[in-house]
Amino acid sequence: MSFETVICGYVGLLLAGLVAVAWRSEQLRRRFGFTPSDDSVFRCRDCGFVYTDDSDVDRSRCPHCGKTNEAVTF
Ligand SMILES: [Zn+2]
Repeated sequence: MSFETVICGYVGLLLAGLVAVAWRSEQLRRRFGFTPSDDSVFRCRDCGFVYTDDSDVDRSRCPHCGKTNEAVTF
């Protein structure tokens, strides 16, 4: 077995291991990962209810009391 064969085999095994680790971490991320939403968060000034609405909406009506609220900025 030549020196080049050993090096190529070692590099091949290393790359296969990296691909396996990346694939596994992607699987775990998809199963448990947090996927951020584009929705805006609103907090009602009257009843304190926290809810979400589409991100393109500036003001949204509270589903509990009907008061119109502005989006919360973090
Ligand atoms: Zn409300």
